[in-house]
Amino acid sequence: MAIVDTAVIGGGQAGLAVAWYLRRAGVEHVVLDDQPGPGGGWRGTWDSLRLFSPARYSSLPGWMMPPAKDGDYPTREEALGYLAAYEDRYEIPVLRPWPVSTVLPSPDPEFLEVQGARGGTVLARTVVSATGTWRCPRRPRLPGLERFGGTVLHSARYRSPAAHDLVGRRVLVVGGGNSGAQITAELSTVASSMWATREPPVFLPDDVDGRVLFHEATARYRAREAGEELPPPRSLGDIVMVPPVREARDRGALEARPMPETFTPQGARWSGGDEEALDAVILATGFRPALDHLQELGVLDPDGRVAVEGTRSVREPRLWLVGYGAWTGFASATLIGVGRSARATVEEVREFLEGNRIP
Ligand code: FAD
Repeated sequence: MAIVDTAVIGGGQAGLAVAWYLRRAGVEHVVLDDQPGPGGGWRGTWDSLRLFSPARYSSLPGWMMPPAKDGDYPTREEALGYLAAYEDRYEIPVLRPWPVSTVLPSPDPEFLEVQGARGGTVLARTVVSATGTWRCPRRPRLPGLERFGGTVLHSARYRSPAAHDLVGRRVLVVGGGNSGAQITAELSTVASSMWATREPPVFLPDDVDGRVLFHEATARYRAREAGEELPPPRSLGDIVMVPPVREARDRGALEARPMPETFTPQGARWSGGDEEALDAVILATGFRPALDHLQELGVLDPDGRVAVEGTRSVREPRLWLVGYGAWTGFASATLIGVGRSARATVEEVREFLEGNRIP
């Protein structure tokens, strides 16, 4: 049984950023990740995905992502390569595949017990959960979808039109965020694509990409620190006009319809009676935080989140959560934004360990 000061659960970008600050602070730690290799959620994204910020705005603490080879925006492969190289460069102690099944109070009150789904236990004085959202696709209940006879796929499993035999098919993409827009844009070049959204999609201005969103988040962070009020932020669901999305919009391929009234065995029907035959439906309907491993700690709220102050659990003072979204810090679900949450978290972890060290 291993004993550490800090166990970081999850080896994606958030886990690596936390590990970088732990290493700098000299805190003994281990990162437990359930995947067979580096990259976290980026391993599961579709082949053509491009980041919505240039490389220097997509960097973890300490080391800039190398510039994209083709155009401003790095590819998925480049993001994966960067995360793998980052792990090597800083010799981050990642154990994988090491799926954590549960975190429990240990009989020894100094520790939390981190149990592995494949056996093994780590006793940790503090735990940082950085398990992201990718493992938990959100699948809303859509009327009649269970009767639909074609392919139904969540964006979490979507790789490319060819991988799912969608070339030349009739495909409805559901969901008005960036995933829905990007997948519709890709399908529109090789298939008969349609797009349905609950609300009309909001396209950001063409010159607003991730770096603008990051500057805005920084301004909000500083204003909050100074006790000032700012107008509400742009929603992270608003669509960033990366080149393929811009090009599809200019072709008229991103005209969204309302949601169908019901799906049918052959397709979908809209209120007013319009029907479309469909071969496939892709659900680009988002994700929820992957927090099942915290169930037995008694910290999960009915909305599936954990009450936090900053990134620290209100109910379990030895637990921090990093990277999940705005509720765990400004821009903390982005490569560049997570560093700030990670730094603040590690400062608190270090203070806690110093105050509670048993000689
Ligand atoms: P993840 O990357 O999901 O890593 C968590 C890790 O923990 C995974 O390896 C997971 O398998 C593992 N894990 C989960 N549960 C357990 C467990 N119980 N035990 C052990 N391990 C576990 N961000 C940007 O910065 N720039 C972009 O351009 C950008 N574009 C995006 C485009 C789209 C369409 C989407 C959907 C997201 C985009 N993002 C972007 C966001 C980014 O992909 C995610 O927010 C990011 O991957 C989250 O990082 P993370 O480390 O918090 O979680």
